[in-house]
Amino acid sequence: MIQPVAVIGAGPFGLSTAAHLRARGIPVRVFGDPMVSWRDHMPAGMLLKSTPVASNIDAPQRGHDLVDYCDAAGTPRLVTDEDIIPVETFIAYGEWFQQKLVPEVERVRVVSVDRRTADGGGFELKLDSGELFTARAVVVATGLSGLAHLPPELAVAAPDGPTPTGPVSHSSQQHDLSRYSGKDLIVVGAGQSALETAVLAAEAGARVRVVARGQGSVAFGEPPWKQPRLRPESPFGRAWSLWALSYYPHPYRHLPAQLRHYLVRRVLGPLGAWWLRDRFEGNVRVSEVGRILRADTADGHPALSVLTHTGRTDRLSADHVIAATGYRVDLAAMDFLGHELRTELAVSRGTPKLGAGYVSSVPGLYFTGLPSAASYGPVMRFVCGTEFASPRLVRHLAAAHG
Ligand SMILES: Cc1cc2nc3c(=O)[nH]c(=O)nc-3n(C[C@H](O)[C@H](O)[C@H](O)COP(=O)(O)OP(=O)(O)OC[C@H]3O[C@@H](n4cnc5c(N)ncnc54)[C@H](O)[C@@H]3O)c2cc1C
Repeated sequence: MIQPVAVIGAGPFGLSTAAHLRARGIPVRVFGDPMVSWRDHMPAGMLLKSTPVASNIDAPQRGHDLVDYCDAAGTPRLVTDEDIIPVETFIAYGEWFQQKLVPEVERVRVVSVDRRTADGGGFELKLDSGELFTARAVVVATGLSGLAHLPPELAVAAPDGPTPTGPVSHSSQQHDLSRYSGKDLIVVGAGQSALETAVLAAEAGARVRVVARGQGSVAFGEPPWKQPRLRPESPFGRAWSLWALSYYPHPYRHLPAQLRHYLVRRVLGPLGAWWLRDRFEGNVRVSEVGRILRADTADGHPALSVLTHTGRTDRLSADHVIAATGYRVDLAAMDFLGHELRTELAVSRGTPKLGAGYVSSVPGLYFTGLPSAASYGPVMRFVCGTEFASPRLVRHLAAAHG
């Protein structure tokens, strides 16, 4: 029997990769809950920061862009940079893409992946249904799952782990922010996720304060009509750097490691969307601080001790703290990859080192999406990264294991 390729993940990257594999006639099994990160781990009512042209899930054939979904669903077409995409529309688009191009997604978890050394190699996978099977190659497209980052100074106030009903949560645990109506809420962070979570909670009736590190760290981008015309257009705005990183990620993995990790963190870093400013100002208080020293709890209520820019220590208390402190790729946290497999992988600061075609140092094991950003650049953190990643990954896989 021909062994299939296993794609672990059914978010935009997993679905796109699987669609390309199917189009080449390569047998594939796809695991995961389609679009779950968007449905359960982002706030209801959220709007996408990416523009319609930067929000297409790449497919091997035409007719599967966001605008095609809008036409099929009979909803208003989202086309220009001024059209803003509600998260609910994007989830429906992803599910439509899945039903059309990857109908056989299996909604089970992969609990372990190990390398087979005998009988022709490949990988042995165990599913949470108890099934064991052999795959000739594995694509890891698990995205944000399990990679939520809670800084240690906040983690101390959540000894049993972050949770929306305790003193501290991570933004990935928040979906319905109306639970904080009438409460005092602190949101830590200055990225789009922090600023939009703060706005949505304030609009739901919470009294919200954003606590961000660095003077002037809470800022918003320029609207499309104010973007500089003489710079090239990219899915993220007009700038030479963004244009190069979006359309030419090829040489990225040859840059020095320090620079690669720095760019992944800083390019397209913390900045609110242009359309969020009006909803933010006047509704959300801001404390820009030198740094957060520690969090603690008194009577179950959290408080942050912060060092101000004048060198004073202040105490900010609330009913709940949401840490919108992002995600960190760390192979150690991807515990479904067998221990031996993880020790065999070449790693750079916790991220897999990838070669041409997104292959890791273990032949047949591929990574795409967020875990590939340290090798292929910050564009891999976004849906539009599927356009570069999926055809190249699948071409490599077909040549090596097809
Ligand atoms: C608040 C927020 C807003 C964002 N806004 C934007 C935006 O506007 N535009 C944009 O381009 N990007 C945005 N992003 C980034 C976006 O989340 C990623 O680009 C995208 O979701 C990555 O897709 P993915 O397929 O790699 O992973 P995910 O969408 O995270 O999907 C992961 C998949 O893996 C599956 N999975 C995980 N572990 C296992 C396992 N062990 N076994 C089986 N299946 C498993 C899950 O079930 C799921 O199907 C945003 C992120 C956040 C947090």
